[in-house]
Amino acid sequence: MSLALELWFGLPLFIGYVVSSVVVIPLVTHGITFISRLQLWTQPIWVVLHVLPFAAIAIYDAGSFKEWTHYGGRAGAEGLSFNLVLFGAASTVVFSLIAQIGEQVDFLRFLPSPHDRRNLGWWAALLSAGPGWMVLGAAKLLIGSFLAFLAIRHAIPADKAAEPTQMYLVAFGYVFSSPQVALGFTGAFVIISQIKINVTNAYAGSIAWSNFFSRLTHSHPGRVVWLVFNVAIALTLMELGIFRVLERILGLYSIVAVAWVGALVADLVINKPLGLSPPHIEFKRAHLYDINPVGVGAMVLAAAIGIADFSGGLGDLLQPFAPFLALAVAFVAAPAIAFATRGRFYIARSAGADWRTRKSVTCCICEHTFEPEDSTFCPAYAGPICSLCCSLDARCHDCCKHKARFSDQIGGLLAATLPGWTVSALNSRIAHFLATLSLFSLVIGGVLTLIYFQATFTAGAATPVIGSTLWTVFCILSIIAGVAAWLFVLAQESSRVAQEESRRQTTLLTSEIEAHKRTDAKLQKAKETAEAASKAKSRYVIGLSHELRTPLNAILGYAQLLERDKTIPPRRLNAIKVVRRSAEHLSGLIDGLLDISKIEAGRFHVNRDEVRIVEFLDQLADMFRLQATAKGIAFEFIRPDRLPVAVFTDESRLRQILINLLSNAIKFTERGRAALRVRYRNQVAEFEIEDTGIGIRPEDLHRIFEPFERAHGPSIRAEPGTGLGLTITRMLTETMGGEISVTSTVGKGSVFRVRLLLSEVARPRPVAAKENRIRGYRGPQLTVLVADDDAVHRDLIHEILMPLGFIVLSAEEGSSCLDLVDQCHPDLVLLDVLMPGMSGWEAARALRRAGHDRTAILMLSANASENSEVLTPDRVHDGYLMKPIDIRQLLDKIRAVLKVEWTYDVPEQTIGTVPGARLSATDLPPPGQIDDLMRLGEIGYVRGIEAKLLEIEDNFPEHQVFVRELREIVSSFDLKRYMAVLGALRHDAH
Ligand code: ADP
Repeated sequence: MSLALELWFGLPLFIGYVVSSVVVIPLVTHGITFISRLQLWTQPIWVVLHVLPFAAIAIYDAGSFKEWTHYGGRAGAEGLSFNLVLFGAASTVVFSLIAQIGEQVDFLRFLPSPHDRRNLGWWAALLSAGPGWMVLGAAKLLIGSFLAFLAIRHAIPADKAAEPTQMYLVAFGYVFSSPQVALGFTGAFVIISQIKINVTNAYAGSIAWSNFFSRLTHSHPGRVVWLVFNVAIALTLMELGIFRVLERILGLYSIVAVAWVGALVADLVINKPLGLSPPHIEFKRAHLYDINPVGVGAMVLAAAIGIADFSGGLGDLLQPFAPFLALAVAFVAAPAIAFATRGRFYIARSAGADWRTRKSVTCCICEHTFEPEDSTFCPAYAGPICSLCCSLDARCHDCCKHKARFSDQIGGLLAATLPGWTVSALNSRIAHFLATLSLFSLVIGGVLTLIYFQATFTAGAATPVIGSTLWTVFCILSIIAGVAAWLFVLAQESSRVAQEESRRQTTLLTSEIEAHKRTDAKLQKAKETAEAASKAKSRYVIGLSHELRTPLNAILGYAQLLERDKTIPPRRLNAIKVVRRSAEHLSGLIDGLLDISKIEAGRFHVNRDEVRIVEFLDQLADMFRLQATAKGIAFEFIRPDRLPVAVFTDESRLRQILINLLSNAIKFTERGRAALRVRYRNQVAEFEIEDTGIGIRPEDLHRIFEPFERAHGPSIRAEPGTGLGLTITRMLTETMGGEISVTSTVGKGSVFRVRLLLSEVARPRPVAAKENRIRGYRGPQLTVLVADDDAVHRDLIHEILMPLGFIVLSAEEGSSCLDLVDQCHPDLVLLDVLMPGMSGWEAARALRRAGHDRTAILMLSANASENSEVLTPDRVHDGYLMKPIDIRQLLDKIRAVLKVEWTYDVPEQTIGTVPGARLSATDLPPPGQIDDLMRLGEIGYVRGIEAKLLEIEDNFPEHQVFVRELREIVSSFDLKRYMAVLGALRHDAH
């Protein structure tokens, strides 16, 4: 191509080489599809240009063909006779082309598999693209010979006559009379031909380099890198003119090529039919031995004997036939070695994997999809692996095949042929060094020999000088190679040690992971068992609480009634109070247990309320200040001046936490003070509840957070409590994402700290006007039917709803409820879920079935586990309420389902309904009693006030109104108002 460029444009050869090489790179980077297209499009032009000159020669100079067959060459007429030596030389040239057959086989990979083996078209394609190449190749050789003859006849010097440009210039001279046009066509033809050849060669070369280096270095920088590398080597060789030297050593090359192809053919045509080698050809390196002595051995032996003959070692007579000799040796050696080794080294492991039957397989490393033929099973990764990933892996050490690596095979051979001590000596570091050095020296020697041939090709007389210089260069390079070989051996050794260490660590890690997995599985199982147990416990507690709550409510209700009953003698009142307190205690316990089970069962929902934190805290502080004062201790409340207007948190849960802690602080403190301090920074609030009470012993500090656990000590037992408060407090705090801690000194007091994230509300909602008490509703009178087997509950509903203007009907069980609904058509039915006989749900469904669609139904249940807030699509019920009934919730629900509009009382203050405001000076008991009450009020002794009021009630029954009003004030711990009312009354009395 460079010659054509020179001929065409007068481009100097060395620039022509660069252009010819560089132009190939962008064409090849587009990949095989682009290359095939390029070949296809250029093929017709190429064929026409190829045939055109021969047609012209046939027309204008038909005699030249005959002349060519009678051409004797330089030897004249003598050249027409057969010369054995020249025949040998010519065969050498032909044999050097034999390697092409190997490449042709590569192309046959693209031939689709035959559907039918008798398909003649397929066989024709196989034969013409494979061995049939020889027919075309022979024709090409003859055409070349003819054109060279023609060139010589046209006075082209013999050494130039074999150049394609010169040949075709002469040939195109027959087609075009103008030498310029002939030159143009010659250039075009040569350039097209060369581009077609070069792109394919460069592509195949880049793949060959890529395969070679990926195996050697276990890395794959990409095919383009190898393409550039390939082209660069070709360019260097061209620029250095090495090809002329190669021509001289063509004999050697042809021997090696013949030895290689000979060994292959012998295996195919002799070994396979004789059963000396397996019937199919295996291509996957993962299934092959690194070296098969049949192929490698036969080739090396044939090449060695051929080269010995080529260099005259076997006498003059045989010398020209060195390639033939090599071919013969290969043909004999291959079956002989196969027989001797019993064909053991063909296949290193069997294929057998069930995914081979699949259409495609995904490589477990690169995750690309391949045909099963291009992948194999990798035991190191325990999955299918593609051939590239298989070549690149450096860590598996070919664990897929036993003793099939090059080093193992060499070791095995040495062990079989040499005494033991020599084998271990050969496996030493020094032996490795010597082997590496020999390899380096061989390569350096080979390159220098090439240079020698190249230099002496033109140098003539300077040959001895060049020879001695190259020897000196060889010695110097050998020293450098020695150092490099040593470094290489050491690096190999340390990399082996590192790999062994990493493998050891990997094994350790793998076994550790296994152990962790086992522990994990056990933990998981234990967790599941624990969760199941906890769920069962929660179910049990919830069920139990429901069973307890109903009778308890009755006990509590009757105890309250009895306490107010005037006919009960005062000395019995204490017993009734004990009953009430015990019931309250039990009720507290049930509430606490329910809270705990709800939290444990994960059914606890944290609300995100907008809380006006300042008002919230002030209210709380006011409430506890009164309690503290009542108990005769001080109460300290410190909060930062700058608190957010509102924060997001679950208001009722936060209140529950603080109330629990503050109640404890006051409960366990006899003198001194209790304090609530609040700090707020970066959206985190810290509540510190401190007291100067009895304190907690260090060993109790953890215990007190456990359910039913109370600290030890006589004073504690005296205080009422369930031992659940702190458990709930901690659970709530943690569920809300906060933390709680406690420090305490016995006899000095305790400090509980709660930290919670209370994020600030950026734009708080304006405060809703305070709602007044509901007095009634607008619109026509509505009827409500309550169905409950519990008379107390029925009465309660009566009490709540009648004053608001509702007609309230009641039913004791489901069937009477249905009858009542049929008769009275109430607007709303309140149905208890658990009723004897027909359950609330059954009654609700029956109502709907009976066509009472316009009647609203609210379900009532004491079962905390039942979550029937979710309304069913068939609208059996309209709402759900928990017992004991929260009046506000009940009224809210009624407003929602009946769409009523409440009417409210006018604000209380304006009509003076504040407790105590109704009193006048005439209601007052004697002044002495008032003084006593004021004194008790000043010291905040609530129990003392209660006792005094009881005394007044007993002694002065006419002042009942006074006692009742004051009791109401005291019961809300509003001592300020208590003092104010007493002060005002005394003032009025004077
Ligand atoms: P309860 O107060 O109903 O007994 P808690 O769970 O609230 O249950 O408290 C558990 C125990 O922790 C209490 O019984 C008490 O022994 C101890 N304790 C809690 N708060 C304080 C405090 N401020 N000072 C001393 N002891 C306390």
